Amino acid sequence: MSTKSASILTKVILQLLVWVPLCATVYAIYSLWGRGCTILDLTLLLVGYTFCALGITVGYHRMLTHKGFEAPGWFRAFFLICGSMALQGPALKWAATHIQHHANSDDDDDPHSPVKSFFHGHVGWILDDFQPDIPRYAGPLLKDKLVVFISNTFFLWVLLSLVIPFVIGGWVENLGGHFNWSAAGYALLWAGAVRIFLNHHVTWAVNSICHTYGNREFVTTDGSTNHFLIGLLAMGEGWHNNHHAFPRSANHGMHWWQIDPSAYIINTFEALGFLKNVVRISPERLAIRRIKADVAEERDVLPGLVLPGMMEHGAAMAAAASTVAEVVSNAAGHSQI
Ligand SMILES: [Zn+2]
Ligand SMILES: [Zn+2]
Repeated sequence: MSTKSASILTKVILQLLVWVPLCATVYAIYSLWGRGCTILDLTLLLVGYTFCALGITVGYHRMLTHKGFEAPGWFRAFFLICGSMALQGPALKWAATHIQHHANSDDDDDPHSPVKSFFHGHVGWILDDFQPDIPRYAGPLLKDKLVVFISNTFFLWVLLSLVIPFVIGGWVENLGGHFNWSAAGYALLWAGAVRIFLNHHVTWAVNSICHTYGNREFVTTDGSTNHFLIGLLAMGEGWHNNHHAFPRSANHGMHWWQIDPSAYIINTFEALGFLKNVVRISPERLAIRRIKADVAEERDVLPGLVLPGMMEHGAAMAAAASTVAEVVSNAAGHSQI
């Protein structure tokens, strides 16, 4: 586990981060018996959830942490700000935590392995005040001024994510031209607190459920799994066994039926000419990994960062390629998903 210790303020913030959205969501459900939930509340909730979830998957995860594609500044800023609005920590901390997970997946130094306990893998690791080591695990990202700026202004974006539904709620459902404070409060409840609760627990379910339940297509050194429901809710991140096998891949769904909305967004912007160097995995590499683990490929999570257990990736792929004909012919004899 990380040796970094959290300040008292950080410990308080981490507790509030978990408990406030949970309590607010319980209250929101209770309020359904009185006022109910308006179409505007639901719309703001769904739109907010979608943009924040994509901010985490497209922005924080596939673009920033794994460099799965290259994007222009406006695209990077937009998705990193959306990711910040999900209240899962500043981009640099999120990336460092996630890279530590890839580097030690389901081992002692994994920040959130459910091998310790399912509760620990889901949310216990946050309640235990985990603090990532940014220079060690996300050093190359510290050279990126845009990433550092958006990370340093994290709470500004969180505040904005709460102000937007509050203002829209009070303004749209106004009382004869006057700001409707009650409608604003409920919009904040649903599209602020409940939205954060959902964004949190769906992302955390990738850490807990997708290392416990589901199916495995590829041989990896951890217990990662693919889970259809989490794939759907988490914008494609539930194809987590695929992701651990090929961390750099921009798409996590490896079959047409593995729904991966984040990949659809990336593919669309690539087709429009905005994204380049989108990382994809060849059929040969997919076939190899259905049969054998490749630690070097699993640790190839961020260009410029060398992790324990990782030899030069090019050498690893050359070694794998030398046996590709044999492995592919073996694969043909196995039933595949
Ligand atoms: Zn994982
Ligand atoms: Zn990852």
